[in-house]
Amino acid sequence: MTTKVNKQRIYQIFKTLQGEGAYIGLPVLLIRFASCNLRCRFCDSYENWSNPGKDFSPEELINYILTNYIVESVQNVSYKLNDYLLMFTGGEPLMTEDRQAFIVEVSKLWNEYSGKDFVIIETNGTNPIIDDFVYCSNIKFHFSISPKEMRYQHKYVDTYPKLVDQLNNMNVNNISFSLKFVYESSQCQEFILTLAEKVRNRTVGIFVGIFVMPEGATKEKQLNNSYETLLFCTKHNLIFSPRLHILQDFKEKEFIR
Ligand code: SF4
Repeated sequence: MTTKVNKQRIYQIFKTLQGEGAYIGLPVLLIRFASCNLRCRFCDSYENWSNPGKDFSPEELINYILTNYIVESVQNVSYKLNDYLLMFTGGEPLMTEDRQAFIVEVSKLWNEYSGKDFVIIETNGTNPIIDDFVYCSNIKFHFSISPKEMRYQHKYVDTYPKLVDQLNNMNVNNISFSLKFVYESSQCQEFILTLAEKVRNRTVGIFVGIFVMPEGATKEKQLNNSYETLLFCTKHNLIFSPRLHILQDFKEKEFIR
């Protein structure tokens, strides 16, 4: 049984290069949902918490993309619109089941327009995914899971990434996942290593890797934190990832009002 699709609130769409993690450098059409189930202290898109933006059905969203000028956040990049992969990001894309069903429907429509059969979903991993992703076997979904520690939250909420457990035991060809962490001090090491241990022993499905990025909302801070992050990665066989959008100062973003 497929899940009912309702309109969803979107507050940002722009063309960019993926700035971090497993698919760094790929041209992506970034679609940012409004609202998130967490309240992380370091959230770089906290405006989403107040639910800004406009409601779209899947068809309305694709129509908006095809008929509006969508701002490119990187200067002098000349990809055609249909070169871009869809990437859904937070506000939390997997927050509700109907939001998940919406992602599947938009992915199908984008596949019909562009021929692209790969979609990236950035998530905090607190919610498991619905079966609609598995049934949509002509599209490959990559879940880039960025688990959040409880100590970063303003109040007590369950931040345990249940999606890691679910995908860790799922053996299907059209779903892959990776883990992505921000390294801000030695305090976060235990959290990262505990989850890394969990996925390293897996025997089924497609797992891409564990990426660790230096904390820093500015170029200077990120470069300052890079060396310690790199040492941690090499010691524990993890993959270092820069945050290209900060190092290169990707700027323009289109807000939906
Ligand atoms: S999970 Fe992501 S979008 Fe949600 S509050 Fe935390 S950093 Fe922000």
